[in-house]
Amino acid sequence: MIDYNKIRVRVTLDNLRHNYRVFTAVHPHVIPVIKSDAYGHGLAEVARVLEAEGADTFGVGFVSEAADLRRSGCKARILALLGPVDDADYASLWSHDVLAFIGRFDQLERLAEEAQGRGPLDIALKFDTGMRRLGFSPDQVDGVVKFLKAHPAVRPVMASSHLARADEPGREADVALQGRRFEQAVDGLKAAGFDVEACLANTAGALAHEAVRHDSMRLGIGLYGCNPLHGTPLERLGAGLRPAMEVSAPILQVRELKAGEGISYGWTHVAEHDSVVAIVGAGYADAYSRTLSNKGFMNVKGRLSPIVGRVCMQMTAIDVTDALGQGAVVRPGDEAWLLGGPAPGTISPEDLAGWWGSITYEPFCLLGMNPREYV
Ligand SMILES: *Cc1c(COP(=O)(O)O)cnc(C)c1O
Repeated sequence: MIDYNKIRVRVTLDNLRHNYRVFTAVHPHVIPVIKSDAYGHGLAEVARVLEAEGADTFGVGFVSEAADLRRSGCKARILALLGPVDDADYASLWSHDVLAFIGRFDQLERLAEEAQGRGPLDIALKFDTGMRRLGFSPDQVDGVVKFLKAHPAVRPVMASSHLARADEPGREADVALQGRRFEQAVDGLKAAGFDVEACLANTAGALAHEAVRHDSMRLGIGLYGCNPLHGTPLERLGAGLRPAMEVSAPILQVRELKAGEGISYGWTHVAEHDSVVAIVGAGYADAYSRTLSNKGFMNVKGRLSPIVGRVCMQMTAIDVTDALGQGAVVRPGDEAWLLGGPAPGTISPEDLAGWWGSITYEPFCLLGMNPREYV
């Protein structure tokens, strides 16, 4: 966490609740994915709110994140999507009651060995159906079944996989192919008597591909209020979600920039007309990307104000001439919004991600490292 600045990340918990209900209306078993500090929204806080809404399982990344979540008081089932990596992780599966994705035979062997001393353990089997990162191939399901029959202390309760292209209209065939490979794995397990929960969909899959919803869905970005189908012909499928995060920083000085004057390092912006700029106390040291130089906008008093010149370590200049022309009063100490803020200039996560040259997930994870408050 970043603790040396004046940035405020505001998380509106009601919007998280709203988004959770949007998805549970589609399918009752939603597994909120709260890895990486809940995409910057706060691991323990988000879990607490959604557990109260009825979530009975949460997805995190590493087993160590799962242990942190357990220590925060979470009573729900915790799924570690990245699986055990080191000795401490293996011990935590038992001591913190963590359900981990297991996708390699050497992991199964280690678990069977540890189970002799520690007792039986539930696991989630991870299959690679096309993402080509982690997991068993569905073709290995017979070998997995054979191992599990021989080691009854290792108990599979879930089978899962992850979709690579669920957010791309026109790629339905790729999703369907992953779906078939996944079903091959699930069928193999069920035929052997392992009654696993089938869990495949992410947010985009849940919205756009009914066939992949199965028994439970692992949802991240949608819960935080972003539509992964934004800007595509399928955008309407994710309408009505409410972004939960807003980010502001204080204005440090308001000054004139005369026609012909350059500003910030390198004078990469030179004013065409006499203008007024506000210097905002946020920069790349606060995870506000330098790629936003001369590209992004901030929202001051509901007016979009363009970034002028380079984003610095702890400062960024924005042109507030238009805002002033529209009657806004802008003074040191006022808030400039890096994300969200008042209408009509509200900055959506999609806007910010677009200027950033990224997807909404990245500004959430990065800006979310700043001091947070909950409303
Ligand atoms: C992050 C993640 C998800 C959630 O994806 P969203 O696009 O945020 O809904 C689901 N499953 C796995 C394995 C993930 O890593």
